[in-house]
Amino acid sequence: MTPPGAQPAGRRRPAGDWPGGDRTGGDRTGGRRSPPPTAPEGPSAAEALAAITAEVVECRRCPRLVRWREEVAANPRSSYRDEVYWGRPIPGFGDPAARGVVAGLAPAAHGGNRTGRVFTGDRSGDWLFRAMHRAGLANQPHSVSADDGLQLIGAWVTAAVRCAPPANKPTIEERDTCAGYLVRELAVLRPAVIVVLGSFAYEAVWRVLRQLGTALPAPRPRFGHGVEVPTAGPVVLCSFHPSQQNTFTGKLTEPMLDEIFLRARTLAGRRPPP
Ligand code: SF4
Repeated sequence: MTPPGAQPAGRRRPAGDWPGGDRTGGDRTGGRRSPPPTAPEGPSAAEALAAITAEVVECRRCPRLVRWREEVAANPRSSYRDEVYWGRPIPGFGDPAARGVVAGLAPAAHGGNRTGRVFTGDRSGDWLFRAMHRAGLANQPHSVSADDGLQLIGAWVTAAVRCAPPANKPTIEERDTCAGYLVRELAVLRPAVIVVLGSFAYEAVWRVLRQLGTALPAPRPRFGHGVEVPTAGPVVLCSFHPSQQNTFTGKLTEPMLDEIFLRARTLAGRRPPP
């Protein structure tokens, strides 16, 4: 199976636009702009993200998660019995020029673990991409398979842990083992805003920002829907996770999610959608 990857490179934004300045000093314009004479040549954001994707999809570092993702893939749900599950880690997905990152917890056993794309083929993804579409961050409101034509606009969707965990609960050790991929994605993307879906993603992103050397407020503000945390790097914007547990109970409504993505859009420096 072909690993699902980033969208083709779209717009590029200039280096150094992470609030607080360029953290790596490399050229991130994909060669479109002329670098300063002394700037080292480096891979474009799209190339760097593709390299991360290539590593992620081969990863087997967490024995418990490898066993689980493959066991689920070998025993499809009856409604998907004719499908070949991806059954491997799920890379990030979206626009290599993204100024906004959305971070979830981990792929769903019969969602991303089946389709091979993050938040694709499950109810959480339906909620997420409908909201992103309404906010002008996705070209379509549905996300059913890796080849359904979904394109994100100025956004990148990823997860704290890349393999589906039993009971949707990765261990702390698994979170920390997987963190390096998120570190590298954020180092490439240098977003203006990170929307964290749920408290697990909030904590994971916080730790990753610390690893990147980002100055963070102390103590860490408590997670809550709509809580917005400025840092020396991106603004961290908290949202309840669009899990069925939250959406079925009304803890998270579509207007609540719309507010998050409209705010994220503004924080990323974009005008509201028409
Ligand atoms: S959770 Fe992350 S580190 Fe662990 S096996 Fe999956 S991709 Fe690798």
